[in-house]
Amino acid sequence: RRNIAVMTSGGDAPGMNANVRAIIRAAIYKGCHAFAIYEGYSGLVKGGPEYIREMKWHNVRGWLSEGGTNIGTARCMEFKERWGRVAACKNMINAGIDALIVCGGDGSLTGADLFRSEWPSLIKELHEKNEITQDQYDNYKHLNICGTVGSIDNDMSSTDATIGAYSSLARICEAVDYIGATAKSHQRAFVVEVMGRHCGWLALMAGISTAADYIFIPERPSSRKEWADHMCEVVGKHRARGKRNTIVIVAEGAIDINLNPISCEDVKDVLVNRLGLDTRITTLGHVQRGGSAVAYDRNLATLQGVAAVEAVLDGTPDTPSPMIAIAENKIVRRPLVEAVKLTKSVAQAISEKDFDKAISLRDSEFTE
Ligand code: ADP
Repeated sequence: RRNIAVMTSGGDAPGMNANVRAIIRAAIYKGCHAFAIYEGYSGLVKGGPEYIREMKWHNVRGWLSEGGTNIGTARCMEFKERWGRVAACKNMINAGIDALIVCGGDGSLTGADLFRSEWPSLIKELHEKNEITQDQYDNYKHLNICGTVGSIDNDMSSTDATIGAYSSLARICEAVDYIGATAKSHQRAFVVEVMGRHCGWLALMAGISTAADYIFIPERPSSRKEWADHMCEVVGKHRARGKRNTIVIVAEGAIDINLNPISCEDVKDVLVNRLGLDTRITTLGHVQRGGSAVAYDRNLATLQGVAAVEAVLDGTPDTPSPMIAIAENKIVRRPLVEAVKLTKSVAQAISEKDFDKAISLRDSEFTE
């Protein structure tokens, strides 16, 4: 019988609650005790019954569809320091927890893997300082961890979809549809900024799903002259064919060929000055994170939650930490460290202006 804890960390995403629910219930179903760590790593560092709570079957009732994360999430600087991880280790042992599932982005999963690899030295330190008993030292020699990926950005390599991305996409599409209606009435242009950090997935998918006139994504930068000329050519052509509205979607991480950010103001100025369009800017902001999870995310989070519990129960000191992914519609385990490394190498390639490499690295997640 094991004691399995779940935590949500980093940016919140719709479907995190569904993931927590599935993890708690799958753990109980398999005869384990289930715990929730509240407020991400900061709850683990603070410890105690306020932050580390045993969860029963009924505690997660109704969580499947709820947006956000009911157990809270936080960014925690203390966990990046060794003393913070020592405190977290002690709090886990005192609560009797021997397996941890973290639902978060690449930062959160990096932290989880570091915690696991450091674990033997953390307990050794606690033992030497007499902060844990000999029994605790003997019984908590190894920590099993598993990651599930919760992020609206869909920016993790090695998985086709992250929990929350399709909900966010649905919200963006609804909002752009609303904007399209008013834009058409006044024959206006709208420049819509969407989230995604360094990843253009939300902007690209939203562009396709709403028939936007033009999109800007970090993975396809061009010089200012190039994008301005091309956008005016495309938008001008659509207008000449009788289109009454114009929608341009700008990813928040959009950059030009010199890695300078492309702002909605830049884009608006070009539409106003060169095409004479009455242009407005809408930054969708946190609306993109809110609301209930779409069916796809509820499914993904549930299946991945069950798979995460199975993965920590299978884990041994010699197996690398797994991350639960979806690849070609199958729920699969991937080595967490490799997935994080690949994700970071995409950002690295972009920062080195090697855009072809960045795109091929992104593509590589689908082919293995
Ligand atoms: P995300 O998980 O969405 O990428 P962050 O990068 O902000 O979000 O990470 C969330 C939290 O995970 C951080 O506040 C920190 O507590 C922990 N974390 C991130 N990177 C590391 C790291 N290299 N070592 C230890 N903990 C980390």
